[in-house]
Amino acid sequence: MRIVIIGAGVAGCILARSLSRLRGAEVVCLERVKASEYFDCGTGLNIGPNGVKALRAHDPDLAEAVSALSFPWRSWKVSLTDGTPLFDLALTQVADTEGWRIPWSEFYRVLREAAAPAITYGCTITHVAPCERDTERTCIEWLEDGVEKRLDGVDLLVATDGRYSQVRWTISGAPAMRPVGVAISRALVPDTSGGLIDDYEQWFNGPNRLLGFRVPPAHIYATCTFPIPPHEPIPEALKRAEAIRAMYVPPSGKLSAPAQWMLDALCSHAADLHWARMQWHCLRYADPDWNVLYLGDAAHGMVPTLGQGATQAIEDATVAGDIITQEWASERRNPRHWLRQISHARSDRVHFAMQLSLEATDTMLEGADPVAGTLRKLKPGFLAKLRALYCDVTGKAAREDFHELAAGSLVA
Ligand SMILES: Cc1cc2nc3c(=O)[nH]c(=O)nc-3n(C[C@H](O)[C@H](O)[C@H](O)COP(=O)(O)OP(=O)(O)OC[C@H]3O[C@@H](n4cnc5c(N)ncnc54)[C@H](O)[C@@H]3O)c2cc1C
Repeated sequence: MRIVIIGAGVAGCILARSLSRLRGAEVVCLERVKASEYFDCGTGLNIGPNGVKALRAHDPDLAEAVSALSFPWRSWKVSLTDGTPLFDLALTQVADTEGWRIPWSEFYRVLREAAAPAITYGCTITHVAPCERDTERTCIEWLEDGVEKRLDGVDLLVATDGRYSQVRWTISGAPAMRPVGVAISRALVPDTSGGLIDDYEQWFNGPNRLLGFRVPPAHIYATCTFPIPPHEPIPEALKRAEAIRAMYVPPSGKLSAPAQWMLDALCSHAADLHWARMQWHCLRYADPDWNVLYLGDAAHGMVPTLGQGATQAIEDATVAGDIITQEWASERRNPRHWLRQISHARSDRVHFAMQLSLEATDTMLEGADPVAGTLRKLKPGFLAKLRALYCDVTGKAAREDFHELAAGSLVA
């Protein structure tokens, strides 16, 4: 059986490593960038306790390797930029394990090394389509070092090629992007804070939010967000250091020491900040007609508010890896059946994660009251949802919570 995975990112590497163990399966993972290019993957990641739990259960050696390169994520603090504390949550209150804080480049490096034999780098996909005169299979063409390559009769094509998935857009059509009206900017900067910044922390001035945490070896992942009209680009004038500074200085004019450090760090890197608009897109795990599986951002683009993008990509890959491995061991070699099982196992859980990420974005929207919104997150209802997100990687409680949430759902 021939399995082709497009994209050696978070989900692609975990799945490629997992499926490479299937005796008799041909597993090929085609990655667009060159082997050394992960060094350029800027910024940092916080991986939720649910991602840690899922990877530990699925692939303990890989989880151990990631842990060795991470700092533990143990707490979530929120205050105003003038230093007024609002929220101080120990993750032990809502999770049964800690999360990870890791530079993105290190995360990619360890995942790609673990899946190395299956990955071919520097591939430009030129054609992906259903096979002629064949039901359900696909064929794929690509350029590798200028040489044309082709694989026919692909039994299972897995798209793990990220948010703007070429495979999903080609096979199943482009999902509509839904902007939420928040600009986000991020940087990875050397830690000169002298201990002011460590675990996951946020500082608000109105709906404008700073977020930072320390990652190994000695860096701070720093982000800032502010509201913008949902369907408009981020104004260039707001990307300048003076404009950024003005958004976070509180009415008293006096910033707390950590907020001051964060703001100075972001403003001094204003020219190198990575800018994006928060948006999400609808969920799709499988094409209805062809044996094509979507995982990670290719399946679900979600807002980054709870750090669930890479975290859910881990959950996706581990669930898909487990299901396919079990089916293989039982000699059930029907990819359409695998797709149905994976979609069934993941859809409600991911809807829930998408919905909760949107719900948690309330404090960052135009006109938001971050004090009331943050204090609401300490109420039992929100904490119960966080617990379902962080602990229930199998999905049952998440499904119940999702159905409860779905009444006022923002997610289609
Ligand atoms: C700046 C930033 C910070 C983030 N912070 C967090 C965080 O703190 N926590 C969190 O959980 N999530 C975070 N996310 C989201 C997270 O990075 C993504 O959700 C996650 O990487 C998705 O994993 P994936 O496997 O779906 O795709 P990716 O990890 O994006 O991997 C896609 C892979 O496919 C390759 N590819 C793309 N197109 C093609 C093609 N046509 N052919 C071949 N290969 C292709 C890419 O090069 C890449 O290697 C952040 C995102 C950004 C941009």
